[in-house]
Amino acid sequence: MAPISAETDFLVIGGGSGGLACGRMASSRFGVKTMIVEGKRLGGTCVNVGCVPKKVTFNAAAIAETLHHAKAYGFSVQETAPFDWTTFKHKRDAYIKRLNGIYERNLQKDGVEYVHGWAKLLSKNEVEVTTDDGAKSVVRAKKILLAMGGHPTPAPSIPGAEYGINSDGFFDIEKLPGKVAIVGAGYIAVEFAGMFQSLGTETHLFIRYKTFLRHFDPMIQETVVKEYERIGVNLHKETHVSRVEKDSATGKLTVTYKDASGNETSVSDVDHLIWAIGRDPATQDVGLDKAGVNLNEAGHVVVDEYENTNVDGIYALGDVTGKLELTPVAIAAGRRLSERVFGGEEFATTKLDYDNVPSVVFAHPEVGSVGLSEPQAIEKYGKENVKVYKTSFTAMYYAMMEPEDKAPTNYKLVVVGPEEKVVGLHIMGLGSGEMLQGFGVAIRMGATKKDFDRCVAIHPTSAEEIVTLK
Ligand code: FAD
Ligand code: NDP
Repeated sequence: MAPISAETDFLVIGGGSGGLACGRMASSRFGVKTMIVEGKRLGGTCVNVGCVPKKVTFNAAAIAETLHHAKAYGFSVQETAPFDWTTFKHKRDAYIKRLNGIYERNLQKDGVEYVHGWAKLLSKNEVEVTTDDGAKSVVRAKKILLAMGGHPTPAPSIPGAEYGINSDGFFDIEKLPGKVAIVGAGYIAVEFAGMFQSLGTETHLFIRYKTFLRHFDPMIQETVVKEYERIGVNLHKETHVSRVEKDSATGKLTVTYKDASGNETSVSDVDHLIWAIGRDPATQDVGLDKAGVNLNEAGHVVVDEYENTNVDGIYALGDVTGKLELTPVAIAAGRRLSERVFGGEEFATTKLDYDNVPSVVFAHPEVGSVGLSEPQAIEKYGKENVKVYKTSFTAMYYAMMEPEDKAPTNYKLVVVGPEEKVVGLHIMGLGSGEMLQGFGVAIRMGATKKDFDRCVAIHPTSAEEIVTLK
């Protein structure tokens, strides 16, 4: 490895979505001497243990569903063997490895100094870097970006919790499990449960309340919960896992949980228990105290709307700030920050607008959401100013299928004021992931219900229902 520079203008801690976007732009567009320090694999959570391998697995699950549906369209598709998870997993790993290499070459191309190692602040301008061989170097940096992301929230302290894995461990599973138990009610738990169920694994999902995705519009919560029950996910509502035991001979787990009345029940023969109960910021043991960087109660770095920390010349963005934990948000925040800090007068007030950021849960079916939920709109604008347009139907794709194979589609548009400005769109159903992006543009531009109505429908699609809502 080439010797590490003793000085740099811009040092980025974390080669994930946000750090790479910011560092690459600083170097390639503004000519800033930039160093990125990454302790694990380039690309961060999204590329290695997040969006990318998750979406590839989601695609496999979608193919399983299509194979099942093919019969209804007259195909005599015969599956001669169960899904070969092991081969699929190794192919997926190889794809991620290729991406790691592409990311490293991009850094070379952009003139960024890439150091594989762990960074720790010694002061507001000094960072200690420990490389794989244990060697330590000190780098002086004029400006520093904290883009360390986060990691799965540790399991609660119950007996046997350590027998479970987390979302990182999901990507190490070598064989298609016969039975899984997932604890959690957010994006990850719902996505994993949907994928396992579609791929033929007996899936148990433990949630603390009556619904999951509780930050989403109530329509999404209710309809996706119903749909998961319909497709056969064993949904254990209002439960808390209280103990986990491992059979030393078979390695299988018995997961014991308490229901709302305190009664205990067990699910046995579980191959994997997955804790998916949130993510914590990677702000421990990075020397933030040495530089005087303020953290909030949850351990996130406190930043203003420009991603400035309380220390001059130290910035933070992405998951480490806990604003909106999404890859495109980290990337956009990184690019805006690079422009503002290094782009001169023209970009002096550039910042990321965190409103109306669309996001998709790759559930079964997909869920998309942008803007305010109905309760949020009512809270912000008052009940009398909020109107809701919604529809519920069966997509034409299912026309050829038996009733038990038909999944629902639900759309809701939340509008405010006499001009009926669209402040929220919530969709679930086939193709919602691809559908939402374009509507996101319209909503960002301030579209009204009339603008939606004036857009001529594309027929026959599901999306046309959004521009013909009554
Ligand atoms: P990260 O990508 O986490 O990068 C931080 C990097 O910093 C890591 O590589 C870490 O090793 C490194 N690091 C930490 N500390 C140090 C240190 N001291 N020294 C050197 N390096 C350090 N988002 C979406 O938009 N769509 C999705 O479909 C999606 N799916 C997801 C699925 C899963 C299972 C998970 C876990 C997340 C998913 N996300 C998704 C969220 C997305 O991955 C994150 O929001 C995004 O990666 C955040 O980017 P970041 O740059 O802030 O942090
Ligand atoms: P989330 O914050 O989305 O959800 C975690 C949920 O788990 C909580 O909201 C809570 O729901 C429940 N929970 C918390 N503690 C416990 C507990 N002790 N026992 C049982 N349930 C508990 O976290 P995730 O880990 O799912 O995902 C982290 C973030 O990553 C997401 O917020 C998202 O920003 C990002 N992500 C994005 C994806 C995408 O864009 N498609 C996909 C995956 C992740 P409740 O209060 O209802 O119990």
